[in-house]
Amino acid sequence: MNLWNKLMCYSRRHSPWLFHMNGGSCNGCDIELIASLTPRYDAEQLGVRLEGSPRHADILCITGPITSNAVGAIKTVYDQVCGPKAVIAIGSCPATTNVFIDSRTLAGPLNKHIPVDVFVPGCPPRPDAIILGVAKAAEILAERAGKKQPAEPIVMPLVGPGCGGACACGSSTEAKCEEVAQ
Ligand code: SF4
Repeated sequence: MNLWNKLMCYSRRHSPWLFHMNGGSCNGCDIELIASLTPRYDAEQLGVRLEGSPRHADILCITGPITSNAVGAIKTVYDQVCGPKAVIAIGSCPATTNVFIDSRTLAGPLNKHIPVDVFVPGCPPRPDAIILGVAKAAEILAERAGKKQPAEPIVMPLVGPGCGGACACGSSTEAKCEEVAQ
């Protein structure tokens, strides 16, 4: 690897820029993503930054069960993120469609449409779980910048109580996300 590639890998590993898309979520996961960037959890202190344009981002963060009318926009935005790039599915919805599983308006789960690198389970996942997921995606990104391709999507461990049984659908679990990722 030449010096330029080494520098790119280092930068991507230490300051990943995110673009956030809502694929029909209830906004619970979106609020937790924002909380992870605000002073209490302060992912920005680690170099993580939320970007307004997918063209400037390295990591695409997607929430929600992926409604039929969001699919086209998600694919377009995925293509607009310059490579190397990584995708994080935040919450149980993009992994399993979760409580919305029987809805006729859904086209999820997300990995039917674009490749997902990191699943962060939970309904919603805690901000510290999201930060761990971003750190893992940054690692994958640095590997990609160095021309290595990580093989399998990664399911992050459940941090905290997860859904706490609130939805009673039985799908908001780490095990279910693992099943979808395979
Ligand atoms: S995983 Fe839970 S909190 Fe997140 S969008 Fe789905 S229902 Fe809402």
